[in-house]
Amino acid sequence: MTSRKLAESLAGLLARRTRSKPSTAFRVHQPTSASSFSSTRSAPARGTEFLQLHDPDLTESQRTVREAIGKVCAKFDDTYWLQADEEHRFPSEFHRALAQDGWLGICMPAAYGGSELGIAEAAVMVQTIAESGAAYAGASAVHMNIFGLEPVRKFGTEEQKRRMLVPLIAGRERACFGVTEPNTGLDTLRLQSRAVRDGDHYVLSGQKIWISTAQVAEKILILARTTPLEEVKKPSQGLSLFYTDLDRTQVHVTEIPKMGRAAVDSNTLFFDGWRVPKEDLIGDENNGFKMIMHGMNAERILIAAEALGIGFAALRRAVLYAGERKVFGRPIGQNQAVQHPLADSWMQLEAARLVIYQAARMYDAGHETGEYANAAKYLAAEAAFQACERAVMIHGGMGYAKEYHVERYFREIMIPRIAPVSREMIRNYIGERVLGLPRSY
Ligand SMILES: Cc1cc2nc3c(=O)[nH]c(=O)nc-3n(C[C@H](O)[C@H](O)[C@H](O)COP(=O)(O)OP(=O)(O)OC[C@H]3O[C@@H](n4cnc5c(N)ncnc54)[C@H](O)[C@@H]3O)c2cc1C
Repeated sequence: MTSRKLAESLAGLLARRTRSKPSTAFRVHQPTSASSFSSTRSAPARGTEFLQLHDPDLTESQRTVREAIGKVCAKFDDTYWLQADEEHRFPSEFHRALAQDGWLGICMPAAYGGSELGIAEAAVMVQTIAESGAAYAGASAVHMNIFGLEPVRKFGTEEQKRRMLVPLIAGRERACFGVTEPNTGLDTLRLQSRAVRDGDHYVLSGQKIWISTAQVAEKILILARTTPLEEVKKPSQGLSLFYTDLDRTQVHVTEIPKMGRAAVDSNTLFFDGWRVPKEDLIGDENNGFKMIMHGMNAERILIAAEALGIGFAALRRAVLYAGERKVFGRPIGQNQAVQHPLADSWMQLEAARLVIYQAARMYDAGHETGEYANAAKYLAAEAAFQACERAVMIHGGMGYAKEYHVERYFREIMIPRIAPVSREMIRNYIGERVLGLPRSY
């Protein structure tokens, strides 16, 4: 769908929405067909039946995005995501469905097939995906599309934008993001991958780790050092950014077996003498770190919104189960020891939600958002982690069973606590930049 069609569809949805009654939170959905995971203690939740649309602080366009994305997600139920997880299968059908409806370029310019909406709308999109039960498997399948190519949008040439953005937005190409390295971790400025100019090419040698979707991606946005650390005034100088083919004849890609989000792969990359055309250098040589930084606050906001969605999904399942499951002759949710942690989680998630959307509003208005974007990521990941842990515990033994899905959420919610930046580094940032305390690292 072109951006014009998406705009028309948004307008149509807006018109229809005014005629329909908004959903209420936690409304119990009665399934129309039997679940393939039958159990006498079944929780008949299909995630999207519970989307909250009543939040008074959503703008019309955010509300429209939430409703439209909710409809796409409704075609991919919990069984789909459970199977994708178990079979380690990339959710290509889901990726295609979002591409067909024009959602992959939500923040990208209309000239390249995007919709030119803001991070505030993109955050709603990824929150809704995660909240539908798709969790990180769904969100990570499209995450890179939404803001990953911001450096290309901002610093690429017209030729590069056409060549790189158009197929990504149309869903014809998938991209991954290669920054983290095994020997340097969070100390990004000391990364060791080298890119050396040789005629019309750069020759890349080095390794990357944890690169999501590298098994399925045709393209990679990769950061490598073009000027040795000893020869630059500041370590942030001398790094360059490339968007290029992930050529498997030149790059050895190996999947990392991991705890959760099995549908979306994570990988180590090893390359020695990988020839990358000079036309794939983004912006000026040696200026890559600044370009990567440009999209970082937006990425933190999106990761936060994804975590929030999982937190709400876990809370919803926990609430349903607490209302249905009877032990000692009454619903377990009648016990305050069960009810209070859930009430507490709702408050924590709502507080995180307000910070996320404050950060998004500020970002879209052009303000510096480092504090709020980092705080949002931290608060949402922690609130969602607690919600997921509580959801598992409230399900008792069934919390450990796959058919109730909360164990999947619990495994996946570890991701935003670790990546793209850890809790400790966010505290370091707030301590130094907001509180003015000495740099600790
Ligand atoms: C599922 C998953 C997907 C990912 N996808 C991608 C991707 O697509 N592309 C990509 O480039 N990367 C990706 N990453 C990598 C991720 O961004 C890194 O794992 C993350 O930045 C942490 O780096 P590290 O693992 O090297 O930890 P390290 O840097 O080794 O740190 C280990 C621990 O030490 C702590 N620590 C280190 N230094 C300090 C300090 N000075 N003060 C306090 N604490 C400190 C950290 O907070 C952390 O808890 C992914 C990671 C995961 C788990």
